[in-house]
Amino acid sequence: MALIVHKYGGTSMGSTERIRNVAKRVAKWVRAGHQLVVVPSAMSGETNRLLGLAKELAPAKPDERTHRELDMLASTGEQVSVGLLAIALQAEGCDAISYAGWQVPVRTNSAYTKARIESIEDKKVRADLAQGKVVIITGFQGIDEKGHITTLGRGGSDTSAVAVAAALKADECLIYTDVDGVYTTDPRVVPEARRLSTVSFEEMLEMASMGSKVLQIRSVEFAGKYRVPLRVLSSFTPWDIPIEEEAASGTLITFEEDEKMEQAVVSGIAFNRDEAKVSILGVPDKPGIAFQILGAIADANIEVDVIIQNVSHDGKTDFSFTVHRNDYARTLDVLKGKVLPTLGTDRLEGDTRICKVSIVGIGMRSHVGIASKMFRSLAEEGINIQMISTSEIKTSVVIDEKYMELAVRALHRAFDLDQA
Ligand code: ASP
Ligand code: MG
Repeated sequence: MALIVHKYGGTSMGSTERIRNVAKRVAKWVRAGHQLVVVPSAMSGETNRLLGLAKELAPAKPDERTHRELDMLASTGEQVSVGLLAIALQAEGCDAISYAGWQVPVRTNSAYTKARIESIEDKKVRADLAQGKVVIITGFQGIDEKGHITTLGRGGSDTSAVAVAAALKADECLIYTDVDGVYTTDPRVVPEARRLSTVSFEEMLEMASMGSKVLQIRSVEFAGKYRVPLRVLSSFTPWDIPIEEEAASGTLITFEEDEKMEQAVVSGIAFNRDEAKVSILGVPDKPGIAFQILGAIADANIEVDVIIQNVSHDGKTDFSFTVHRNDYARTLDVLKGKVLPTLGTDRLEGDTRICKVSIVGIGMRSHVGIASKMFRSLAEEGINIQMISTSEIKTSVVIDEKYMELAVRALHRAFDLDQA
């Protein structure tokens, strides 16, 4: 008997028919003798629908008070899902009980709309499991110190599932989704993209952070921190396929760097269009300036990604960085309001039509010349690189958004990812 956490995405929960299929699949695992905790997302489109309603009523930039209410609102999508799934399981003859995050409780900080899980109480869940119940817990949400409902940011149900698996020390966390695993890149951009049967946790972290939409990045961080065995697999296989076959399908996220992985220098190409670039021109080149700029941005709770400072001329330099596109307007506000006046410049430029493309691979640690190969293939396509950033297992470039697909395809080919 193993303790298994299943997570089902919005598409898998998209209709009563699909929820019935989820219930049948879960029941199959229960009949095989396992203890099951299930974490579903809201029915597909529901979170967007709810947030859309809010937007109709408050189209202006929401403030802190509104963020609290957005969480109150958006958390209901998952509450509907857990109730329906529990009913469907009961109809399958499985004893099941559902909980909203606050009932477990799943404790988070108070950063509404992007809260972080701090702890999960396991007593109630363990007691139910011991009684032979399937426990269904809402994804995406929790409760803060003061008792307010919080949500974890879009795609947060993945993180809920992994955090629940970590808290219960589950044997495996299976993320059922509408793709059948992790691919070398998005198959919608490169039809030749291949599914990886294993990917290292570090590579997954880089790919998830780059917007390979398969898993929310926080969930991968959690899995790494608590070493939760994690598998991404399709929820569209027939529910009655043999359990052994299902348990071995999809992509396993591994912690061991085996030799096979060492051989693939680049494992995948990640990309995203979610960022925007901001440049401040003519800032004084002296100690403390980067802190002055980015400190103010951090204080506003805005995450910064790629950062570049140019060589200075006559004691002045240019400073550029990227932020999430949703934070772009706020970033400009913070800079204009608090930062530029103290820097003695008003030359601020921004560009939202950029994208970031990365090559990711654990093998990059032990191979040289990988970045230059990347730059050569971009050059051959006539693509101008605006910014570059590197880590041990990743090289990223910021380029004009209109070349994104071209760049991804060229890199996929250049690193032989088309070939099995
Ligand atoms: N329902 C939430 C969303 O759409 C959370 C999730 O699906 O993971 O972002
Ligand atoms: Mg998702």
